[in-house]
Amino acid sequence: MSDLTVAVLGTGIMGAAMARSLMRAGIGVRAWNRTRAKAEPLAADGAHVCAEPAEAVAGAGVVLTMLRDGETVEQVMADALAAVEADAVWVQTSTVGVAAADRLAELAAGRAVPFFDAPVLGTKQPAEDGKLLVMASGPAAHRDRAQEVFDAIGSRTTWVGEGAEASRLKLVMNSWVLALTAAIGEAMAFAEGLGLDPKLFLESIAGGPLDVTYAHAKGGAILAGEFPPSFKTETAVKDTELVVEAARAAGLSPLLAEAVRDQMRRAVELGHGDADMAAVYYAARRT
Ligand code: NAP
Repeated sequence: MSDLTVAVLGTGIMGAAMARSLMRAGIGVRAWNRTRAKAEPLAADGAHVCAEPAEAVAGAGVVLTMLRDGETVEQVMADALAAVEADAVWVQTSTVGVAAADRLAELAAGRAVPFFDAPVLGTKQPAEDGKLLVMASGPAAHRDRAQEVFDAIGSRTTWVGEGAEASRLKLVMNSWVLALTAAIGEAMAFAEGLGLDPKLFLESIAGGPLDVTYAHAKGGAILAGEFPPSFKTETAVKDTELVVEAARAAGLSPLLAEAVRDQMRRAVELGHGDADMAAVYYAARRT
């Protein structure tokens, strides 16, 4: 058993799974979620479910945020920061992009709370298995406390700096995974459009230099016509918008990311916002 307690703010797909990994590692959890019903099941695993963010952070050595976006994190923490314990650290794991990560770091600095920018790579299953890849940046002096949390939720931590550099790396990783998902959906739809069984695409790449495990996971969902959300299409729109915004701000020309964003938006318009982002396939089928 650890003597650490973590306040988990946000128990959606990822936050709930991460809270369970923390408890499996013997770490105490105080959980808060806007929709309380989504946090309640964690009580059976030993979590203390709280009514307000400020109640959750009181008594916690680490505050972990896993909320939709930067604006939400900002709103929730603006209220909760005053209640954060004097020696606690804030581990921010949501995907918020470059500009918001910098703003959140400033918000924490204003309250003298050590801030770790720590977005994660991996989806629902790795989160449930405690096998996320954590990209982390933050003050070296407080890393031990943050690392205990990262070791519980992840299989590997990549340290990339002392500021909010990790959110930059996260966007690079997302530019890759979102484009990959859109490409898988489009290849499957394209095969169908040409009168082929889309399974032939997956069989043709299997085991060769063009193969990637992800194609079989997302392609399998497309073949089955079932899209239980690991990563919602609606979240993918938010994340491609962050990629485009950061790339444009850096003076780049992210035409591929813009096309992926537009396809994700189309899939949402077609009613697949709460489905897994593999449903981007439907956008490619639309004429
Ligand atoms: P999710 O299941 O939709 O969870 C979103 C969370 O944000 C929920 O706790 C939700 O509360 C909360 N929230 C949304 N709007 C809010 C508001 N206005 N005020 C307070 N709380 C609000 O999404 P998720 O997949 O867990 O994603 C969470 C974060 O992780 C996102 O930044 C996402 O980009 C990132 N991420 C996701 C994955 C993945 O594969 N799913 C992987 C890596 C990173 P309610 O329950 O009340 O709606």
